[in-house]
Amino acid sequence: MTYVVITAVVLIALNLVCTRLSQRLFYENKESAMIEKCQLASDELSTLDVWNNSTVSNVLGQLESLRASRLIVTDQSGLCIYDSTGTSLGSYTLLPEILGACHGNDVFSWKYHDGAMISRASTPIISYGTIAGCVYVAEYDTSQGAVIDLLLHTIARITVILEIGVFLFALLYSRHFSHRMRAILNSMHIIQKGSYDQKVSVGGHDELTILANEFNDLTERLQTSEEKRRRFVSDASHELKTPLASIKLLTDSILQNDMDAETMREFVEDIGSEAERLNRMTAKLLSLTRVDIQEPPESELIRIFPTINRVVRMLRPVAERSSVEILAELEQDSTVLITEDDLYQIVFNLIENGIKYNRTNGSVTVRVDRTEDFARLTVADTGVGIPEDALDHIFERFYRVDKARSRQTGGSGLGLAIVRAIVQRNRGDIQVESTPGSGTVFTVTFPIFDMEVDET
Ligand code: ATP
Ligand code: MG
Repeated sequence: MTYVVITAVVLIALNLVCTRLSQRLFYENKESAMIEKCQLASDELSTLDVWNNSTVSNVLGQLESLRASRLIVTDQSGLCIYDSTGTSLGSYTLLPEILGACHGNDVFSWKYHDGAMISRASTPIISYGTIAGCVYVAEYDTSQGAVIDLLLHTIARITVILEIGVFLFALLYSRHFSHRMRAILNSMHIIQKGSYDQKVSVGGHDELTILANEFNDLTERLQTSEEKRRRFVSDASHELKTPLASIKLLTDSILQNDMDAETMREFVEDIGSEAERLNRMTAKLLSLTRVDIQEPPESELIRIFPTINRVVRMLRPVAERSSVEILAELEQDSTVLITEDDLYQIVFNLIENGIKYNRTNGSVTVRVDRTEDFARLTVADTGVGIPEDALDHIFERFYRVDKARSRQTGGSGLGLAIVRAIVQRNRGDIQVESTPGSGTVFTVTFPIFDMEVDET
């Protein structure tokens, strides 16, 4: 559309410029020639002592070059002394050119009328330093008029042809444009119905192509997130189904069998632990959804050590129950930009895993050190390790290397997914190295913000 508007504007401008130029050419040539004629007559007439029709006719008769359609000579008041056509003789001739010349100016005017160029010029006759009258020359030039006429007609014809061209182009372009626009709208309707694999192809290299590409990107992202959502819902339902099925089995057994009090107590305890597992899982699911969909909360500059100490205090009894020792090697503290809650969740999940997937009398070592720009948190354990082919998957939701062991330890396979999401939204990075049978090391790095913060 922009091209059409630009072309139309250019055509109109071109038309105006050509018309103006042709007229200007005529005007400039004609003006000097006509003024020259008037001045020639004025010079000759200025020498006259007696001013009347016969003396003026005499002088003008001798001037061969003074051929014009009309020649008028007036006195300083505009009274006509000589008129080559004889019509105004003896009367006041108050033509604008004559009035201008009687005020001492050289005047020229022209107009194009009915196929002829009519040009008029007038100059004052100066005799003994005063304005004695004026000479007026008018020419009615049909040959010049014909040239201008031809020029104007040619320009008009070219303009009309070009404008028809622009109109046809605009018509075709707008049809093509609406065809491509309709393709995008159709795709939108199809996507509205849920088919995210719909792609739109409009061709070309204009704004509409960019729009179509953006649209395709958007649908691709929608498709990916829809697939993720579906997988998540199916994984989550599957995970929630297992403890619910166990609870159902246990309650059925209690209701159907005539069991002794001791066995019933065991069954009820099992129901309690399954309910506890469900509780933990839903809490983690909620936490993961929050990390996924919420804007990160307002981060603050905090030191790392206090949070680590809090987690270690919290998990030490759990570690002791599993005969695992927690060693904290905290050398040089750093300030990072994160919420305390986020940092707590990262450290908690990593140390908890270190304890859960360890061996009796094993250890979990938490280390914090720093490079020039980064703070590095390392959680190393002496546990079962992770097989190499599983390393790529442990950050996926619900992924567990050893399902049986994880279920036994109450794991839902969500902890590391939460950790990775939190680390990423805080501009950090997480890496894992593991040797099956001897242990695993998780390394988390964050950019350091070296600023003074309150010790907590
Ligand atoms: P939870 O949601 O309660 O954390 P989880 O511990 O099973 O459950 P993740 O923390 O996401 O889930 O860990 C995913 C899997 O990765 C675990 O099931 C376990 O198999 C493996 N894993 C994680 N940390 C370690 C570790 N330090 N040593 C060995 N295996 C580990
Ligand atoms: Mg875990």
